[in-house]
Amino acid sequence: MKVTFSLVIALFLSPALFAQGFQSAHFEISQLSDGVYAAIHKPGGYGICNAGIVNLGRETLVFDCCLSPEAARDLKRAAETLTGNPVKYVVNSHYHNDHVRGNQVFPDARIIATRRTRELMEQLAAAEVEDEKKYVDQQIADFTNNMAREEDSTKMTEHKLWLGYYQSMKSSHADYHVTLPDYLVDDSTSLKGKKRSVQLICKGSGHSESDMIMWLPAEKILFAGDLLFIGFHPWFGEADIPGWLSYLNYMKNLGPATVIPGHGRTGAVADLDEMSGYLISIEAILAEMVRNKIPANLIGAIHVPEKYNALYFRNFFTPGLTLQYQKKIRK
Ligand SMILES: [Zn+2]
Repeated sequence: MKVTFSLVIALFLSPALFAQGFQSAHFEISQLSDGVYAAIHKPGGYGICNAGIVNLGRETLVFDCCLSPEAARDLKRAAETLTGNPVKYVVNSHYHNDHVRGNQVFPDARIIATRRTRELMEQLAAAEVEDEKKYVDQQIADFTNNMAREEDSTKMTEHKLWLGYYQSMKSSHADYHVTLPDYLVDDSTSLKGKKRSVQLICKGSGHSESDMIMWLPAEKILFAGDLLFIGFHPWFGEADIPGWLSYLNYMKNLGPATVIPGHGRTGAVADLDEMSGYLISIEAILAEMVRNKIPANLIGAIHVPEKYNALYFRNFFTPGLTLQYQKKIRK
């Protein structure tokens, strides 16, 4: 086969090849469809949450945007390189630091979120940074020591994930300024592009006080934000667990072919079922705790159910139970 200049150019410009060849220390690009990509966090990277990149036709949308602005700059470069279009929209699925702190690297984009997400950022984001500065160096030292001593490869990955989280947090402090959403959505909205449309849907509280998912009906691709964790314990400390379960049911009924979680590998409907099963087991543990009037100082002795022993982010389990238990016994 004669390799012509135009063939070389065509291959070079192929989004699929770009996706395979796009290198970032923070995330792995996975092509989900023509013009739709997931940026999946790499352990030790500074992205922390997964992100989505959608080519709408003349403009590009980014769904969630990393903990560290340094990783977000890579995400912006990936989005513009893969689609050939500028990023016009950035969606914050909820207010947690790893989903919003990259907003500032998209000064020309509209930042989309729910009204409540913006309020929570306004109230909490600046104080959260000041609080983080008090403990971030100690956490980096602790996880560095853990890694030096660890011999178990699974636990090593866990330490690496947490070390990456705290290093990313510290990196974000260098040049972070709170950048609030300026395009507010109360329940749902559609963004129609020349090439495709996306639906942004909020059903209220779930993982956080206000969550938003993104649904691509033609491609049956769902970006679930932190309403879905795959291979990780979810953070459920501030969750509305019944609300979260109804989100999972709603997402399942959409009939997605591909689901991108906030954390973990790309998944499918079975992973939504797994997530529901996890939350139902947490509700059962909490009901038992309430029945037995467990004193707060014994919550740390409650074991992770055996089925979930292999999940990462084990450190979420006891604080999550503690916060949910406090909420239940206050009622
Ligand atoms: Zn979250």
